Amino acid sequence: HADLALYQSKGSGRNSVHFFSSHLKNKASIELELEDELRQALQDDRELLLHYQPILDLCTGEISKLEALVRWQHPRLGLLSPDRFIGIAEANGFIAELDAWVLRRACQELHQLSLCGFPELRVAVNCSALNLSHDDLPEEIELALRGSGIRAQRLELEVTENALMSNVNQALSLLQRIRGLGVSISIDDFGTGYSSLAYLKRLPLDTLKIDRSFLFDIATSNADQQIVQAIIGMAHPLHLKVVAEGVETETQLEFLRSVGCDFIQGYLLSKPLPLAELDTFLVEFRLRSASNVVPLRNG
Ligand code: C2E
Ligand code: MG
Ligand code: MG
Ligand code: MG
Repeated sequence: HADLALYQSKGSGRNSVHFFSSHLKNKASIELELEDELRQALQDDRELLLHYQPILDLCTGEISKLEALVRWQHPRLGLLSPDRFIGIAEANGFIAELDAWVLRRACQELHQLSLCGFPELRVAVNCSALNLSHDDLPEEIELALRGSGIRAQRLELEVTENALMSNVNQALSLLQRIRGLGVSISIDDFGTGYSSLAYLKRLPLDTLKIDRSFLFDIATSNADQQIVQAIIGMAHPLHLKVVAEGVETETQLEFLRSVGCDFIQGYLLSKPLPLAELDTFLVEFRLRSASNVVPLRNG
């Protein structure tokens, strides 16, 4: 019935679905409306925006990169998080366009940050699993780099484990082309998927991002401590850097520091911020580091 309602509302306008239960009607038409609105927002280059979450290098004490996270400022529903609309773009065949838009915008805004005194900052962009079978991805990346003048070394692509493993051969050649451009590759939400360790050495990777589910209870869970330590112990000899996601407390930070984790990301440092606020955050962080009063820093 849901399908029929969808079909009917697509074919002949919203008036024709009134004979279905109001629940079904509402659910189907709300999703359809969102789909239309999202396509439109993407086409018109309005309402979509990026928030950026700073990532701290524990070795240097500097914010060395940002993760770009897409948001949708919906006219009626307010600010929507990606979990609310990425699935819609994936299910309806325009996630490649959406992710390409994010890539271009992230590179443009990174260029703006360069002009504001942050020329070394890097940006990590998420890539939907579906786009790993999208042959044009390397070209999209090149376009975004060329259009903004950003060096490839300042861009990272985040891909989830399952996305990589579902079609390793295809992912391998695509990632090799992307890495050939000079762009780095991270595995996102590492530890929650089903990667085979053999692939860690076969795939052209730079960074593992430990999923935040391993960090929640790290203060008290010996198992989680062992897992995080094991991931770092495996990553470093393979020349992979490790980012811990979802770091919210000083205790988590101290543990991660003690086991040699390379980077942290999480609310302890900052929530994802709109560009204007990010600029202020970076300036203040730099000032505090210079006067050595950053609570996150050693000594
Ligand atoms: P992700 O790539 O794993 O991004 C990290 C998510 O964790 C973000 O949620 C971030 O706000 C949240 N987070 C960061 N630090 C903390 C913390 O300390 N505590 C807690 N509880 N959460 C924290 P967000 O922005 O809602 O994004 C959710 C997911 O949506 C992302 O997970 C990513 O998979 C996807 N996504 C975001 N932007 C894009 C995009 O441009 N394209 C695609 N394809 N997917 C995207
Ligand atoms: Mg990510
Ligand atoms: Mg993640
Ligand atoms: Mg995630």
